[in-house]
Amino acid sequence: MAITRFAPSPTGYLHIGGLRTALYSYLWAKKTGGEFKLRIEDTDTARNNEAAVQAILDAFEWVGMPSDCVIEYQSRRTEIYQKYLQQLLDEEKAYRCYMSKEELETLRKKQEDAKQTPRYDGTWRPESGKELPPIPQDIEPVIRIKAPKEGIIEFEDGVKGSMKFDANQVDDFVIARSNGMPTYNFVVAIDDALMQISDVIRGDDHLSNTPKQIVIYNALGFEIPKFYHIPMINNPQGKKLSKRDGAMDVMEYKRLGYLPEALLNFLVRLGWSNGDQEIFSMEEMLELFDPNDINKSASAYNQEKLDWLNAHYIKNVSNDRLAEDLKFHGCEIHGHDKKQMVLDLCKERANTLIELKSAIENILKLPTGYESKGVKKFIKDETTDMLQSYIQLLEENKELHTPVDIEAITKPFIEQNGLKFPQLFQPIRIALTGGTQAPSVYDIIAVLGVEESINRLQSAIKVNFNKQEDS
Ligand code: GLU
Repeated sequence: MAITRFAPSPTGYLHIGGLRTALYSYLWAKKTGGEFKLRIEDTDTARNNEAAVQAILDAFEWVGMPSDCVIEYQSRRTEIYQKYLQQLLDEEKAYRCYMSKEELETLRKKQEDAKQTPRYDGTWRPESGKELPPIPQDIEPVIRIKAPKEGIIEFEDGVKGSMKFDANQVDDFVIARSNGMPTYNFVVAIDDALMQISDVIRGDDHLSNTPKQIVIYNALGFEIPKFYHIPMINNPQGKKLSKRDGAMDVMEYKRLGYLPEALLNFLVRLGWSNGDQEIFSMEEMLELFDPNDINKSASAYNQEKLDWLNAHYIKNVSNDRLAEDLKFHGCEIHGHDKKQMVLDLCKERANTLIELKSAIENILKLPTGYESKGVKKFIKDETTDMLQSYIQLLEENKELHTPVDIEAITKPFIEQNGLKFPQLFQPIRIALTGGTQAPSVYDIIAVLGVEESINRLQSAIKVNFNKQEDS
């Protein structure tokens, strides 16, 4: 049973890399009958903002991955951190350091000049038999942890394998600043331990924090969780993902007309696979996902794949669900008597809900004008007479309402009049929808109904297709 967490810092919006980490954490918890917990790491008061917290919560609601516990906020846990700081001081596992900024700077410079990695030199670290410098009056101390001076800090990473860090890579790092604020690695270790996190799944940009956090775990006698550091998502060129490539707010995907199922399916495959399977329902992800199978190398964002998956889900979710989601995009189709037919028709070609909306509106909305290019090409002198005869035919068949019915009367009409299909169809498309980019004429007439189709044909004839489209 895995207890996992996702711990975003609300300094910006939740982007897809974060959502993928959250998804992996969520899947692993749910698959093992454990819990998925959300923690907001909002200690950086200068960079946090409320809107970002809300955007993160909205994103989780949209994709349907709720936290199994009350959401924790680090900013509300100060007393807990203070208690552990005091404990470490009392147990002499941490100490106050009064080194001034200037002294630290001089030390750093000296080490750099000697081509050494800058590290704290232990001036204020208490050791038996060592005399510490006199405490300066004008310096507020920081608190440093007594990190091991030698040996190896090691852990088994579920993605990267056995990880070993020489203890001298970790110095006595600061766990509380001079203003009393505890530092990042200190609070993360405490929170993960107190929230009983068994499996920490996070981006591999955090790998270098892990040895420090292990030092804290050990100092406080906490059990060390299992770690999985997952490689980044890059752009198709193998570079850092930029906003243009898709590194945007998760809610932007909603605004662009993606379904959460498609986004999650897309993300689960960016860094994990099950043979060459591309489509994963939530049930399948839960059955098959295992963080121990996460790829060791970075993955590449692929917009076409996302669009392809989105098109798949648009085709396969229920029309009621589509109608519901379309509301968000300002398209109200629920009450329409041909809802099922129009959705069946339009969803076949839509990559996004925005495209679906425009395909629906293209049919249902009265044309505001007629596309001049199409008019020039398809509206000839004889078109009006031909359409008048077709209207006549429709008048005689007003009771018809399925595409098959319309086809059954239209095909003989084409034959009897010696027409080619586009000669009739393109003027009808232009008259009914304003342009030539529309589904089959039979479908459009069936969706609009014979009556409404006649009206639109007559309106077009009345102005001789001579009305510019609104831009
Ligand atoms: N708050 C960190 C971030 O947003 C994540 C910390 C962690 O997962 O340990 O990158």
